[in-house]
Amino acid sequence: METHRAHCLILPYPVQGHINPMLQFAKRLQHEGVKVTFATTKFLFETVDEVSASISVETISDGYDDGANGIVQKIYLPRFQKVGSETLTELVLKLQDSGRPVDCIIYDAFLPWCLDVGKDLGVRAGVFFTQSCAVNNIYYHVHKGLLKLPLEATEVDIPGLPPLLASDLPSFVSNPGPYPATSQLVVHDQMEKFEEADWIFFNTFYRLEEKVIHWMAKILPVKTIGPTIPSMYLEKRLEDDKQYGLNLFKPMTNACMSWLNERSINSVVYVSFGSLAKLEVKQMEELAWGLRASSYHFLWVVRESESKKLPKDFVKETFGKGLIISWGPQLDVLAHKSIGCFMTHCGWNSTLEALSLGVPMIAMPQWTDQSTNAKFVKDIWKMGIKAQPDENGIDRRDVIGQCISIVMEGEIGQEIRKNAKKWKDLARQALEEGGSSDENTKDFVSKLIQS
Ligand code: UDP
Repeated sequence: METHRAHCLILPYPVQGHINPMLQFAKRLQHEGVKVTFATTKFLFETVDEVSASISVETISDGYDDGANGIVQKIYLPRFQKVGSETLTELVLKLQDSGRPVDCIIYDAFLPWCLDVGKDLGVRAGVFFTQSCAVNNIYYHVHKGLLKLPLEATEVDIPGLPPLLASDLPSFVSNPGPYPATSQLVVHDQMEKFEEADWIFFNTFYRLEEKVIHWMAKILPVKTIGPTIPSMYLEKRLEDDKQYGLNLFKPMTNACMSWLNERSINSVVYVSFGSLAKLEVKQMEELAWGLRASSYHFLWVVRESESKKLPKDFVKETFGKGLIISWGPQLDVLAHKSIGCFMTHCGWNSTLEALSLGVPMIAMPQWTDQSTNAKFVKDIWKMGIKAQPDENGIDRRDVIGQCISIVMEGEIGQEIRKNAKKWKDLARQALEEGGSSDENTKDFVSKLIQS
C-alpha cells in the first residue's frame, strides 16, 4: 500500500529573522518525508537571488508587490491581512487543484489570520513562534491580563520564569509607546487565538528552557523543535542543508572568510546587530572607538543602511585590525576557530546560533525581545555578559573595551567558555536521533500522516 506523503505549506512573516528558522524547520520536515511548500511574498521572492534548492517556493501577496518601504506598520499589517488572506486561499486551492492538497498550514504567529484561512478551507494549522518560550510566556501573561501594565513593581514574578526587572522585559511590554502597531501585533494579536491551532511550535529546546517549557506545556500542547540551525553545524548533515537559503542581504562570504582564515584562534570579536536594529550615531561611534582601542581583531557587520553612521575614515584607518562587511555568512563566522566572542543584539536566532555553536556572547540588546534574551544569556545560561549602558542608553567605548577583555581573558571568560561548550552539546543532543526536538518533530509528522 502506498503511504500518503503529507504536504505542509509554510508561511513566515517576511523578515530575515522569521524566514531563517521557518525555512530550516521546512527542511527538517522534508527530511522526515513531508512534502513542503514554502510561501513568501511576491516582492521578497523577486528580490532574493538564492533559495534553498530542495524546497519548492510559491508566493502570496502582502498587498505591496513593489515593496513596502516607508509604509508604517499601522497601514501595512491590515493590508497584509486582507490581501494575504485572499492570496493564501488562492494558493491553497491552486495546490489542491494541481493534485497536491495541503494537509497543514504552518504559519508564523505574526500572521494570526492564517488560522482563519485554514479553518475556512478545512485545512489544519500549526502556529510557529520564532521567539523564546520565556518571551512567549511573558506575552501570554500580558495578553491574558495576568501581568498588568503599566508595571507597578520594579520586579515581576511570572510562573516558570526567574524574577525579572522591567528592563529585562521585551520593549513592547516595558515601553510600547514608540511602536504601538507592532506592540499590538506582538503582545496581543499573536496571542489572540493561537490556542485554537492544531499544533503549537516553539523554536527552542527542552533543556534550554526547561522550567518555562514545563509550565507552558501544562496548559498548552507546546512542541519544541529547535534550535533551527542548519544541520551541518550541529550533527550529521541532512541533504541540501549547508545554509539557511533565501537571503534578503547579500553575504560578503569570500572576503570575510579569507580574512578570518588569516587570524589566529580565538582572536576575533564578531559584532552584529542582525537585520533590523538601528543604532544611534553616538552608539555607533562609541562602538567603533571601543573596538578600535581593544587589543583584539574585530569583524563587524554594518548593514548598508547603517554605514553612514560610522565615524569618518574609520574603515580606512582600521584596515587590518578590523573588517567591516555589509552582511556575512553568520553561521560560518560563528563556527570559525578565530572567533573568540560575539557582540550581539541578542535577536533570538543570533542567540540560538551562538549558543549552538558554543560562542561566548557580549549582549547589547536594542529592542523587542532582546533584553529578555540577554538576561537569560547572562544570568541563566551564564554564556556571556551584558554591556551596561549609561543613563542615555549608550554603551560607552570604555565599557565596550572592558566587556571584550572580560570575555576574552581571565576567570569569568573561562567559566563562560565552559558553559558555552555545555550548551553546544545540549543543543546538538536535542536534534540528534531520540533528542527532545527530534522526537517532537517526528511525532508531528506521524500524526500528520495518520490523520
Ligand atoms: N545574519 C546573517 N548575516 C549577518 C547577520 C545576521 O546571516 O551578517 C542572520 C543570522 O544568522 C540570523 C538572522 O540573520 O539567523 C538574524 O536574526 P536575529 O533573530 O538574530 O535578529 P533580527 O534580524 O531578527 O533582529
